[in-house]
Amino acid sequence: MNVALWEKCVTYHGHHCPGLAIGVRASLAAIKALSLDIAGNDKIVCVAENESCSIDGIRVVLECTGEKGNLFFIKGGKQAFSIFNQTIGDSIRLVLKDLPPMERDEMEAFLLNEPDAAKLFDFEKPHFELPEKA
Ligand SMILES: [Zn+2]
Repeated sequence: MNVALWEKCVTYHGHHCPGLAIGVRASLAAIKALSLDIAGNDKIVCVAENESCSIDGIRVVLECTGEKGNLFFIKGGKQAFSIFNQTIGDSIRLVLKDLPPMERDEMEAFLLNEPDAAKLFDFEKPHFELPEKA
């Protein structure tokens, strides 16, 4: 885990927590899976199925925000994130796996340090299309 990036996310979010770690790891996994170029021309849209701490990780790492019009929410209460690269029409849905019970700090460290993102998330195709305007 990139410490500078994590610290940037913690500063933005106001505290560190396992939820933020989920959003950061989901963002990084999506960048890798879709070979996203965040600083470049890729038009990235995220549809999140929760509005918890994890979203701040999405805001910082994927630069998806409500203000920019590329962050949407659907109800579901799931730690699931569908990320679309509209430039080339690619997409992925990351769903947090059922992780073993852990203390809060232990969970945060596990989320940040587990090298294999496939141990944290199921990788699927989104089961919906983007809203028209996105
Ligand atoms: Zn939090």
